[in-house]
Formats: sequence, structure tokens, C-alpha cells
Amino acid sequence: MDLKDLYKDIIVDHNRSPRNFRKLEPATRSANGFNPLCGDKLTVYLQLDGETIADLSFEGSGCAISVASASLMTERLKGKTLAEAKTLYASMHALLTGNTPAETDTQSLGKLAALEGVKEYPSRVKCATLCWHTLEAALRNDTAAVTTE
Ligand code: ZN
Repeated sequence: MDLKDLYKDIIVDHNRSPRNFRKLEPATRSANGFNPLCGDKLTVYLQLDGETIADLSFEGSGCAISVASASLMTERLKGKTLAEAKTLYASMHALLTGNTPAETDTQSLGKLAALEGVKEYPSRVKCATLCWHTLEAALRNDTAAVTTE
């Protein structure tokens, strides 16, 4: 099977049946994201257990790319540590904006690599990055909360 077809199937599948598409209550953290270029709106919820993302979810409305990206993100990050989430955020940002450092191992991104195709459609890149920016906002809150300053 052609890799492009496989990637397209992943995005279609995650848009049709988004994973973790619900409000998370109680949520330790949440953040709202909006992409005015396309009209995508979503809320990302995190439930933290110490340094681990015990659960996460999202809800909102948007185009297929924004929904599939958020679905893939929540599927991937459940049970991961905050440090792993931050690393993945950086890798995804690099992948989607085309600044992938040579040493980035896209293999390790697994299904998330399906989103790389949006680079060919510059107007859709923000659809794919929206959930990641929203996640990062939620994570940043948490970092502020645990700082000793
Ligand atoms: Zn969109």
C-alpha cells in the first residue's frame, strides 16, 4: 500500500471517529484554541497524575485536519510524561512547519507522521498545529504552577 494512501486513511479514520472526543471532568488543566483562518475551535483537557498525563481529551469543531490531528495527539499522549509531551510537541511543530532537523526521527512519530502531508497545503498547516499549540498552553500553565519562583 502506498504510504500516502495509508496516511490519508489514518486522517479520514480519525476525523470520522475521533478518539478521546469528550469533556474531561475533572480536568487538571484545560486550554482553548482557535484558528480564525479556518474556523477550527477546540478545547484540550488534561488530567495529570504528578508528572504523567493520566488522561487527556478534546472537544470542539473544525475541519478534518484539525480533528484528526487532535485525535491522534490524544491517542498518542495518554500515559506519557510531561517531558515526553513537550518533546513530542517540539517534534510535531518541526514536522508541520517544515523545519524538521535532520536528526529528527520521523519513524518515532508513528501515525502522527500522517500529518506531514499538510506541509503541501500551507493554509492547512495551522489546522494541524492548533491542537498542539493548545496542548502547549495547557502544559505551560502546569509548569508555572510547579515552579519554585
Ligand atoms: Zn481547519
